[in-house]
Amino acid sequence: MSHEGIRIVSAEEAQQDMAEEKLPLAAVTPLKIRVMKTEGTGVEIDWKDGHKSAWNFAWLRNACPCATCHEERDKAGRKPGVAKPKAQALLMMYEAPPRPVEVTPVGKYAVKFKWNDGHEAGIYSWEYLRRVCGCDTCVAKEKV
Ligand SMILES: [Zn+2]
Ligand SMILES: [Zn+2]
Repeated sequence: MSHEGIRIVSAEEAQQDMAEEKLPLAAVTPLKIRVMKTEGTGVEIDWKDGHKSAWNFAWLRNACPCATCHEERDKAGRKPGVAKPKAQALLMMYEAPPRPVEVTPVGKYAVKFKWNDGHEAGIYSWEYLRRVCGCDTCVAKEKV
């Protein structure tokens, strides 16, 4: 594995990286995608730039990028992947953990899940997934 994906950035450049600018092609090109549908665990992507991302299905369901979910999160000030707070009564009810019943590739740029709750409007583009990478490095960067 080469190290060409690693670059040292100044604080200023790092700031710019936080903005919604275009990510380098290698950062949004998956080399390997593993969807652990049978296991019901989650998705792992190895990117062309050497980065590795992993998400569990519950997180991905809560990060659904469709307009409805996006708006709902926006209004509530929830970040992608954060579960909706539940009413006390609902907490007691059994709810099947989110997992996809169908996984469909969308062109070369995205993947679509049909969730076990019937929702299937979200198209998860590679670029979106890379932006919401949940690895320790990216999470730490976001907290700065
Ligand atoms: Zn949605
Ligand atoms: Zn990451």
